[in-house]
Amino acid sequence: MLARLDDAAKLAGIAPDVYGVLRVPRRVIEVAVPVRMDDGSIEVFTGWRVHHDTSRGPAKGGIRFHPDLDVAEVTALAAGMTMKCAVVSLPFGGAKGGVRCDPHTLSITELERLTRRYTWEILPLLGEDRDVPAPDVNTDERVMGWLMDTVSMARGEQLTTSVTGKPLAIGGTLGHAGATSSGVLVSARAAFAELDLAMAGRRAVVQGFGKVGGPLVFLLHSLGMRVIAVSDVGGAVYNPGGLDPDGLADHASATGSVVGYPGGEPIAEDDMWALECELAVPAALANCVDAHVAARLGATVVVEAANGPLTPDADAVLEQRGVVVVPDILANAGGVTASYFEWAQNRQGYAWEPDLVAERLRHVMEHAFESVWARAAALDVPLRRAAYVVGLERVAEAIQARGLFP
Ligand code: NAD
Repeated sequence: MLARLDDAAKLAGIAPDVYGVLRVPRRVIEVAVPVRMDDGSIEVFTGWRVHHDTSRGPAKGGIRFHPDLDVAEVTALAAGMTMKCAVVSLPFGGAKGGVRCDPHTLSITELERLTRRYTWEILPLLGEDRDVPAPDVNTDERVMGWLMDTVSMARGEQLTTSVTGKPLAIGGTLGHAGATSSGVLVSARAAFAELDLAMAGRRAVVQGFGKVGGPLVFLLHSLGMRVIAVSDVGGAVYNPGGLDPDGLADHASATGSVVGYPGGEPIAEDDMWALECELAVPAALANCVDAHVAARLGATVVVEAANGPLTPDADAVLEQRGVVVVPDILANAGGVTASYFEWAQNRQGYAWEPDLVAERLRHVMEHAFESVWARAAALDVPLRRAAYVVGLERVAEAIQARGLFP
């Protein structure tokens, strides 16, 4: 993350004084999270909340529960959120948080106690104008409901706006579920338009068939694309004529995986990446496309739905091969944009119609894409470096406009 920020600061010519403020997180809090387990014992977990920068607005970023989480990762992810919010021009700074735990080994009651105690421990940081958490890896709207309830109970008032990604019943927004996939689609469509490529009839490959990859396959199909291969953690399926999204989704929900879908044939994931196609969308894991995969990649355009799916080596290989890569901080920003809409609706006390949510999401994503594309052309650099320049300039402008306290 620091290498990317350093590069962008140099490219954009940000004053060293201003950039120095951004190079370190604003605040990092580490908390002990003791939890009464169902068998009566007490287990103590470690959690963090990091505010990377709050010059443009309240800190915004997800909360994840993962056994490998550490403070370095949380801090890098928080900086990524600062950049992502700035690239799509949301009035938020960047944050991230989480607890080092394996939620799959916890019962629901243990998970709820862990969530509530963690929330209590980071409570001084939270609030609609301070820090607004959202779901992330292994957390969902149920966890956000507990979080919002804990903040509200502690402060003795209904603090709906203090968390996003909530269930609809307590102030969630329509359109939150598919927002990341819709934003990925807008990015893919905009990139194809810039390259004078029609989408109808073209081929796409999607890694991951979860909350982002699943809806995306339907959206690509609805624009007439042939989704020729899809993978999940179990393996990949391939059909050169295009997979049927309904059949694939039915099979995956019945069996738990796309593997064995009768409307396609099995293919190794390495070979899936090498398939000749116009669009490849990694929507699963970080660092899954390395230099080796990049050297064989068959796509013309890569749109990063996942966070950090390409290693820096892969980036270099793809740049040299002329493959267009729409970076994560732009391509998957539809999710945080929907979070912003939820926050705005909660502040207004007025729920927007679904069409309005969709229309505003499209507008935000298209506008962001145009800014990044134009900057890449002007600087003659790949979209990722341009996106960091656009984000960093906006944050630096806010730092300068506010001046230094005291
Ligand atoms: P998810 O858990 O719902 O789905 C992940 C999918 O990836 C599953 O289909 C899983 O089987 C598959 N997968 C896991 N390991 C794999 C492997 N080795 N090979 C192929 N497939 C594999 O997660 P999600 O919410 O869809 O998130 C996917 C990515 O998008 C993550 O990187 C996440 O950080 C990023 N992202 C998600 C959102 C969001 O709104 N959910 C927003 C921004 C970014």
